Amino acid sequence: MPSRTEQVIDALVVGAGFGGIYQTYALKRDGYNVRCVERAPTAGGVWYWNRYPGAMSDTESFLYRYSWDKEALQTYPWPNRYVTQPEILKYLNFIVDKHDLRKLMRFNTAMENATWDADLCVWKVICDTGDVFIAKYLITAMGGLSQAHFPNIQGINSFKGRLIHTQDWPDGIDLNGLNVGVIGSGSTGVQLMTAIAPEVKNLISFQRTPQHSVPSGQRPVSEEERKKINENYDNIYKQVWNSGAGFGVNESDRPMSSYPREERKKIFEGLWEQGNAFRFNLSKFNDISTNIETNRETCKFINEKIDQIVKDPRKANALKPTGLYNRRPLCDSGYYQIFNRDNVDIINLRETPIETIVPDGIRTSDGKVHELDVLIFATGFDAMEGAFTRTTIQGRDGKLMTDHWKNGPTSFLGVSMAGFPNLFMIFGPQGPMSNGATVVEVEANFIMKLIKHAESRSVSGEVVIEARPESEEKWREICDKEARSSILHNAPSSWIFGTNVPGRKPVVTFYFPGLKGWLEITKEETDLGFPSYT
Ligand code: NAP
Repeated sequence: MPSRTEQVIDALVVGAGFGGIYQTYALKRDGYNVRCVERAPTAGGVWYWNRYPGAMSDTESFLYRYSWDKEALQTYPWPNRYVTQPEILKYLNFIVDKHDLRKLMRFNTAMENATWDADLCVWKVICDTGDVFIAKYLITAMGGLSQAHFPNIQGINSFKGRLIHTQDWPDGIDLNGLNVGVIGSGSTGVQLMTAIAPEVKNLISFQRTPQHSVPSGQRPVSEEERKKINENYDNIYKQVWNSGAGFGVNESDRPMSSYPREERKKIFEGLWEQGNAFRFNLSKFNDISTNIETNRETCKFINEKIDQIVKDPRKANALKPTGLYNRRPLCDSGYYQIFNRDNVDIINLRETPIETIVPDGIRTSDGKVHELDVLIFATGFDAMEGAFTRTTIQGRDGKLMTDHWKNGPTSFLGVSMAGFPNLFMIFGPQGPMSNGATVVEVEANFIMKLIKHAESRSVSGEVVIEARPESEEKWREICDKEARSSILHNAPSSWIFGTNVPGRKPVVTFYFPGLKGWLEITKEETDLGFPSYT
């Protein structure tokens, strides 16, 4: 590894995705000497890595962008209701260039370790390229979903065909005419399978737990519609900052029981027709995720839709969830319909689990070998912790972050940790459960206010900002309590609770009330002069 000279800077941002780009911009805007390191060859974060066919945001296009660049908000093109992965990647790189941030970014550069120097009150960060940064502030924006979860299924190394994880999609791969197996039917698997079904020879979904999915309602956006949105952006964002989820949906305050029974079916039909999982969940009934009866009625409606769409009862039965609607909502562009194709099949792993991967494919417990040329893992992420366990972070008194998180990842407000002065996180654990594009903005804004407040009170020029241990502990209790009232809490395995990866400690990784609640709490914290920090 080449040894490079140390660069002394004000702030180092780690990660050039949605969060890191804005954080770098905000620091540059306010006169800080900032650098950003990114392990990918360009900016984009998850939208660089997740290049699998069908990858698309399921936040509507008008809100899957930055609110702070008002010009791009009004003029940058988005032809359809949802933006696809190539469009998002292009937009993020456009923003980087528009604000001249690329010169502050070092690509193909990953943080390897970071150590707090209590004497000099700085972080020393060493990267895998040999670059060393001495920075007053260290801001991680490494993504909550950036480390692939690749389950170690027996026989995996014996497979003769090609093994792919969706978050590391190889450029130029052609699946045309091949026998393809997919493990995983979450947001990623559903998008991927819908996109590749028409091109592959045979597609087999090896599905462990079916999930409920509703139509996305992807469609072109007319010039007139865009003009209307442009004229109304101030109000749109006012509503967003006053909502829990931040998806631009007017969140209902009416429980399902307040609607006459005979009306509900019609309402559900309207929601299905309209498309978008967040609209489906939030715009008419306010208790789908908190009331068991409401949740069951929602499941019944979606399961009836699956029966109507999927002609083969065996496939329909495999696709119908038997449990509650308690995962991250999914939406799709014709997922259930692909199972009417002769070249698409589903193996219900709850009935015939994978026994082993063999050189020619997958052998299930019924002794059958399903022959495959390509096996795709859409098995999700080692969420929240994964990005950090790739690195070694040592805070005050040599405290390792892995020790701090030995009972699962925790933070204060999703941005700070006791014992790790001047280290801030964008999209850290226990941040608001809301549209990611909005979360990164409010978190970076809070960090900027916190830094400026501390600097304005420093006489010597030295600044040490640290969350109090009791603040972090109290925040964990608040997040636990809030999550307990949600039906999501009963999910069998979920990255939202760290239970999707064997060996991880279960933990609530979000502040469930979302944006509005988080903004109220952080406003009070700011107005009172940051009493939860030393
Ligand atoms: P995920 O929701 O964690 O789903 C992983 C899938 O892999 C599940 O179906 C899981 O089955 C299966 N799986 C894992 N290990 C397995 C094993 N050993 N054997 C069989 N099946 C196994 O991951 P994801 O689909 O990548 O989505 C993660 C998150 O990324 C989403 O919730 C979303 O927030 C984000 N995302 C967003 C978009 C978008 O904006 N449209 C697109 C993609 C992803 P079990 O359920 O049985 O565990």
